[in-house]
Amino acid sequence: MKNDLSLLGAESRRFVFAEHGMFIDGMSAPASSGGTIPVFDPSSGEQIAAVPEGTAEDVDRAVQAAKRAFGDPSWAGLKPAARERLILKLALVLEGHAQEFSEIESLNSGRLLVNTRLFDVDLSVDCLRYMAGWTTKLHGKTIPVSVPYAPDMDFFAYTTREPVGVVGAITPWNVPLGQAIWKIAPVLATGCTVVLKPAENTPLTALRFALLAKEVGIPDGVINVVTGYGAVAGAALVAHPDVSKISFTGSTDTGRAIGIEAARSFKKCSLELGGKSPVIILDDADLSQAIPGAAQAILGNHGQNCCAGSRLFVHESIYDEVLAGVAEIASSVKLGPGLAPSSEMGPLVSSVQQQRVLGYIKSGIDEGAEVVVGNKSVDHPGFYVRPTILANVTPDMKAVREEIFGPVLAVASFKDTEEAIARANDTSFGLGASVWTTNINKVHRMVPRLEAGMTWVNTHNVLDIAVPFGGIKNSGIGVELSEEAILQHTNIKSTIVNVE
Ligand code: NAD
Repeated sequence: MKNDLSLLGAESRRFVFAEHGMFIDGMSAPASSGGTIPVFDPSSGEQIAAVPEGTAEDVDRAVQAAKRAFGDPSWAGLKPAARERLILKLALVLEGHAQEFSEIESLNSGRLLVNTRLFDVDLSVDCLRYMAGWTTKLHGKTIPVSVPYAPDMDFFAYTTREPVGVVGAITPWNVPLGQAIWKIAPVLATGCTVVLKPAENTPLTALRFALLAKEVGIPDGVINVVTGYGAVAGAALVAHPDVSKISFTGSTDTGRAIGIEAARSFKKCSLELGGKSPVIILDDADLSQAIPGAAQAILGNHGQNCCAGSRLFVHESIYDEVLAGVAEIASSVKLGPGLAPSSEMGPLVSSVQQQRVLGYIKSGIDEGAEVVVGNKSVDHPGFYVRPTILANVTPDMKAVREEIFGPVLAVASFKDTEEAIARANDTSFGLGASVWTTNINKVHRMVPRLEAGMTWVNTHNVLDIAVPFGGIKNSGIGVELSEEAILQHTNIKSTIVNVE
């Protein structure tokens, strides 16, 4: 059940087992304190690397480098088309290193190689290419004006979009490189600079990516990576007076604290937080699509997915059939290490996450849920949890109300669409929701009433770089990807010229 390290290619092996520094101002740097953080292979629980334990002093050095680079002609003076070419080159080089990045990510995060390839590498390459295109399209408007108190004068008014400055990016461990690139790509496209603080347990691909960016000619100081713990390095980044925007992805509790701190210094702030997304299967759904779809909605990325379809609501007339179908898929999943081609689900990211998920399963059982599959221990080292289905759940159960972030599905039935909508919206979160039906009228009646930033019909978890991504309610504020992300990295400036 543990990774066979001989499956690693030479490049990933060389990088993982090397000595790691942070990446500040184009150079590798140890922590000012000399401290390090161990990095593990979740399939074995064994340490594979160590990264510097960044301090507030290290964050300050990185922010100063980013601030210098923001004003430096080598970056600020680049014409939009030149910046576009540089970002496209970065995308091409990342694509060329796809296998290496997928392997490093799979080894460090525990996820399947096919998954890290798609969501950390391929989607990141797409994201860089999509955002590169915006560099030449960042323009304002001209606005006809007729100033009421100066009717005899002529004015010309226009808006411009200016980069916000230094961005502090803080990312979680569930899709480490993907989350980092979703933040770095709009930074580069808009001419901002960034200090990235990756999750302490999955820092390796961000460090490798920073080296690649230097290789392709991104000027020193434009991308900085400070590894460290959230409460120290992350908090120092959020509080730093020279950071203009915080771009955070992580849990709702951390996001709330960050939002409050960022507001103290009026930083722009985008928060992509947790979820408890409903999957609603109506009685007219095509079950050959809905049953595997519901299983994939929760099992994809081992349930460590902010949009995971962790609450399944099924019309009472098809409840038994759907539950049996999803249970059959969940019980047949083959657990194994991420690098092994035969694995269908890897371990969770850490022992802390494994214990957290097991704790939620226990709480569901204690509160009266029926275990349909799962809740069996895995007799191996590594942080594995079997897919688990809790049926006949009630709205008040902890496992129904709180985000578990693991392969645990809570299932309940409903009598009519009114009840389905009410139960789906009965959560503090508002990230994703899917409806499964063959009736287009029901789609249009239900979707507007679902309290979620991302809604899907007859699918779940589908993402595209061109489509805005974000949540409402306790799932956050602001949006990633798409033109919206570009706009959120700019300030709008209005200019009124007297043309008399
Ligand atoms: P987390 O909130 O514990 O940590 C996220 C990041 O914040 C890490 O880099 C951490 O070091 C840092 N951090 C922690 N405390 C901090 C502080 N006081 N100040 C500044 N930074 C701090 O979340 P996690 O456990 O790493 O990730 C899982 C969570 O992320 C889940 O809730 C999941 O839903 C969420 N998530 C959301 C999205 C989305 O787009 N909405 C995507 C992926 C994950």
